[in-house]
Amino acid sequence: MIGVVGGGIAGLAAAYRLQQRGHEVEVFEASEQLGGLAATYETAGDPVEQYYHHLSKSEGTILELAAELGVDVEWRYKSDAFYVDGRIYPMDKPWEILAYPYLSLYDTFRLGMLVSEIDVRGGRPRFDTYDDLEDFEDVPIREFLLEHTTRGVYEYFWEPLLDAKFGSRKADVSAAWLLGRVKFRGERDLLRGEQLGYVEGGFGRLLEALIEAVGRENITTGARVTELDASDGAVDSLTVETDDGTATRDVDAAIVAAMPNVLEDLTGYPCKIDFQGTVCGVLSLEQSLTDTYWLNLIDDAPFGVLIEHTNFIPEQRYGGEHLYYLASYVQEYDEQLWQLDDDEVEQLWLDGVADLFPHFDRESVNWMKIARNPRTAPVYERGYLDMVVPYDLSEEVAEDVYYAGMASRAQYPERSLDGAIEAGYACANLIE
Ligand SMILES: Cc1cc2nc3c(=O)[nH]c(=O)nc-3n(C[C@H](O)[C@H](O)[C@H](O)COP(=O)(O)OP(=O)(O)OC[C@H]3O[C@@H](n4cnc5c(N)ncnc54)[C@H](O)[C@@H]3O)c2cc1C
Repeated sequence: MIGVVGGGIAGLAAAYRLQQRGHEVEVFEASEQLGGLAATYETAGDPVEQYYHHLSKSEGTILELAAELGVDVEWRYKSDAFYVDGRIYPMDKPWEILAYPYLSLYDTFRLGMLVSEIDVRGGRPRFDTYDDLEDFEDVPIREFLLEHTTRGVYEYFWEPLLDAKFGSRKADVSAAWLLGRVKFRGERDLLRGEQLGYVEGGFGRLLEALIEAVGRENITTGARVTELDASDGAVDSLTVETDDGTATRDVDAAIVAAMPNVLEDLTGYPCKIDFQGTVCGVLSLEQSLTDTYWLNLIDDAPFGVLIEHTNFIPEQRYGGEHLYYLASYVQEYDEQLWQLDDDEVEQLWLDGVADLFPHFDRESVNWMKIARNPRTAPVYERGYLDMVVPYDLSEEVAEDVYYAGMASRAQYPERSLDGAIEAGYACANLIE
């Protein structure tokens, strides 16, 4: 039997692929709910993800898996905007970006060239400068943007996005991450912008289909793996704690599909990648506040981003509830936000919504739920690829130990469901 530690999408995908290859599998999930960061809340209609999720057309692995499991993915045009000084500036179409008053015509041209991956430094266009991301792995992002675009592009376009995503760690992020993100984007229609994907009925439907395919009898929830015994140079058992007590399960191989601190606790393998936490609220209102899906807040606000989910997926799917995500990444656990309890976060953030939108009516709040997790995204700092955890840990830990968690190669340059599935498959494919 192969033991899989973690019932997030990476662990479930690993189990699914192992079974296809003829192996017996058992998935152990510490919490009562499967899905990890892709777990959902109930609404008046379809369930909604606790943390915002969408797909891009370049993410082939998850799209293939959805098709294999008979789960439909729908594609919808997204709407992005910047909120500055009480005004919302749409930023999807070329003429909207041209109309953004904080960028000059020349700034917009340089931004357009960079996102089209054309290097126009020196007045001569070059099309291959950005082909090899590793060339930019050690280049600080600010230095890169000032050299390859303009100060205006840095200060009024990228810097606010970097503040929201990496906060006090923004100076550590590599230019390779930014270029990876630029390449990662999906197809763009000049007139209508970019399409994003969403599983019809929510990502919970994909999880359900995957759980059914793996078989509930092969998955144990409320089962925390506390030890991995590899004292003879190869893994031979996992110790699992449940409400019924502690049990030892013999295994032929083990895949750790959880954050690298779990791998370190189980095997001693140290991963140097720093992770950031996230506090993420889902707010259900009776009213719509904007016409935008993804609102980047350039003004000071107590949260980093406001996502009006029901401007992407219609509110009719949620029994008419207008759903919003409010989220902030957390770099240090002594930050004020991380110290607040859920009620305090809710009050702070609702006050923030009232400051941004004078027409916000507190009476229209149906409910708000806060999720928080101390490790939700790597800090993609310079030299990141040297710190990635290999799939096969036979040399570093012991024979038959594999790693499919967020510190693996497939989760670069951005962590995603697609990357998690790819990591799960990669480990499963290595097991004979
Ligand atoms: C705010 C936010 C926004 C995101 N947006 C997107 C997006 O738009 N598109 C996208 O594709 N992806 C997005 N992601 C990323 C995506 O959610 C993750 O990449 C993916 O869910 C990671 O899956 P995983 O299985 O590797 O890890 P996890 O989901 O973390 O699963 C690991 C599981 O292991 C369990 N576990 C831990 N320790 C043990 C133990 N000792 N024993 C047993 N079980 C254990 C945990 O309980 C957990 O269920 C987002 C994530 C966040 C936080």
